[in-house]
Amino acid sequence: MTIGESKDFSHLYSDETKARKPSPLKTCIHLFQDPNIIFLGGGLPMSDYFPWDRVQADSPLPPFNKGIGAPVSGEADDTLRLALRKNEITKAGETQDIPLSRALQYGFSQGQPELLSFVREHTAMIHPMQYSDWDVLASVGNTNSWESTLRIFCNRGDTILAEAYSFSSSIYAAEAQGINVFPVPLDEFGIIPEKLEKILDNWNPEAAKPKLLYTIPTGQNPTGSTLSDDRKAEIYRIAQKHDFIIIEDEPYYFLQMDPYVKDPAKRAEKTVSSHEDFIKSLAKSFISLDTEGRVLRLDSFSKVLAPGVRLGWIVGSKKILTDYLRLHEMTIQCPSGFTQSLVAGTLNRWGQDGYLDWLIGLRHEYNEKRNVTMDALYKYLPQVPFIKVSPPSAGMFFTINIDASAHPEFATKYQSKPELVEQAIYDKVIEHGVLIVPGVWFKANGDTQPPQPAESKVDVAPNEIFFRGTYAAVPLDKLQAGLKRVGEALYDEFAVTR
Ligand code: PMP
Ligand code: PLP
Repeated sequence: MTIGESKDFSHLYSDETKARKPSPLKTCIHLFQDPNIIFLGGGLPMSDYFPWDRVQADSPLPPFNKGIGAPVSGEADDTLRLALRKNEITKAGETQDIPLSRALQYGFSQGQPELLSFVREHTAMIHPMQYSDWDVLASVGNTNSWESTLRIFCNRGDTILAEAYSFSSSIYAAEAQGINVFPVPLDEFGIIPEKLEKILDNWNPEAAKPKLLYTIPTGQNPTGSTLSDDRKAEIYRIAQKHDFIIIEDEPYYFLQMDPYVKDPAKRAEKTVSSHEDFIKSLAKSFISLDTEGRVLRLDSFSKVLAPGVRLGWIVGSKKILTDYLRLHEMTIQCPSGFTQSLVAGTLNRWGQDGYLDWLIGLRHEYNEKRNVTMDALYKYLPQVPFIKVSPPSAGMFFTINIDASAHPEFATKYQSKPELVEQAIYDKVIEHGVLIVPGVWFKANGDTQPPQPAESKVDVAPNEIFFRGTYAAVPLDKLQAGLKRVGEALYDEFAVTR
């Protein structure tokens, strides 16, 4: 089957993007690499003066038989020793590294070719693409990609849509640019398409329509929900109908797990071991449904390698990525050269298969952490109808959902205000020596001027509050001890008898 080209979405661009001229110096930078050109055109320092001649790194070797967290011995049977040189001399058959003289120089704002080719191949394996002119662009992680996205598309006073509870830093990044973040209701399966469609069908025609939907489909932060594949198709249809761009911010995509089974005796040992099974087990992405170039996918190594590598990539149509590149040329330029060369050197040696082994290893680790968390929550939390937990199927977060009106002092001490109960519980859990964070910190509640109809803003469960916790940050024994303390705090606060 032949696939078509992406559409032009420049009518949705910000004034800033429309006004941005490409830097003329960047139009000739590629000639710096041309051996036939004596390049006197740019302020590039000579690599002889870069004070690193060789950078060495040890990392584990696929297939990571001892588990992905096992320390490396330094011996050849479990350790990959990578040595990057300033001037790489590669022999035939050896892995092509990014020489430090190039990685640490200006140029290649789109990312170094050795990194991009790995990421492109990986993307094509995981997300079968439905249009021909797609590409990837290196970023400094999804925080940076989202900030760039807002600037590419939005003007002050514009409105975007987001899950009613969303990653606070993403909401605040938008609000700081004068952009309204209009909430879309979600449940444990993510955004509810019918509600989204209703909001847009009833959109106040005096206000400009939203240009973007910002969504965290997998292991949503903060609710831990995962958007079902069926809903994604519906939401894509609504995006076409109402002409907005979908931004999928997917740092947790590879933290997808087996469904939680309450009875430990019935849990399967390893449900996913082959690469084929693994790829098949993954949620369908928005980018893989996209036939028009209407989706931008923000991917990051933060949660699968390390946050401090500050490296990610954006997948989208070449047309739109060109405008991101022009913005990057004036902001980040490109991710750090050390990062790109170390990560590309490691991944190109692991190979696509080795990287899948790593991701499968990660899945097993998170499965275990999620299981321990859920077991502990069922064991330690008061088993009462007004406190609910739902086992996440992806990501790092679990939530404890509470009907605040069940608090014995709801109407008296707390004046029937759920947010006051939320604050009291927050204080109480800290008193018990553990930290989980209130859902209200993640609430999107922007509106347009003039406002949207009241029924578009109805809260489905106004007395429900929730707390977000993570099982990612501490070892299992500490995790269990922490959840026990949460349980004790809730027994106390709600005066539940044990
Ligand atoms: N400002 C000025 C005046 C410059 O000449 C340059 C580099 N040519 C830059 C900023 C870019 O600096 P950096 O590499 O630190 O982003
Ligand atoms: N987006 C979401 C939804 C997140 O939860 C996080 C991490 O906390 C980020 C982005 C940040 O990602 P990065 O480290 O790639 O900037």
